[in-house]
Amino acid sequence: MQENEANSLLQDFIEKCQMHNLKVTPQRMAIYREIVDSTEHPTVDTMFQNVKKEFPNISYDTVSRTLLTFAEIGIVDLVEVYGGAKRFDPNVATHHHLHCVSCSNIYDFRNDEYNNLEIPDHVRQGFTVLTSRVVLKGLCDKCSNPGNVSP
Ligand SMILES: [Zn+2]
Ligand SMILES: [Zn+2]
Repeated sequence: MQENEANSLLQDFIEKCQMHNLKVTPQRMAIYREIVDSTEHPTVDTMFQNVKKEFPNISYDTVSRTLLTFAEIGIVDLVEVYGGAKRFDPNVATHHHLHCVSCSNIYDFRNDEYNNLEIPDHVRQGFTVLTSRVVLKGLCDKCSNPGNVSP
């Protein structure tokens, strides 16, 4: 990640915390930095393992609560996973997901047409749509070509 981009993300993070009276602690900063650097839509467990390297005394509970608080105030997004472990998304801008049903990886993709999906009338009648995301399930490149070991 470019340094400028990282700085502006951090600035954004600090502003959102202040807006919601959330103290910016070194641990919260570390959790935020970790998730922003992650491209894998991590679970609490993955996040805990990584943050622990920097803060050996941090508890699983703290990481879990912090991520849920971040999700509540719009710093991260909760990924649409039902039944499995919660996963978090540092990208709160409109984007869409590819879910690999084999390795459970989630990949981001952008598509302008999907961003402007037209909501059918019969849906609008009984439901107020706030956001929309297209989720495509399938097999990622690695899983559909197990012989191809990517570098
Ligand atoms: Zn896969
Ligand atoms: Zn995503």
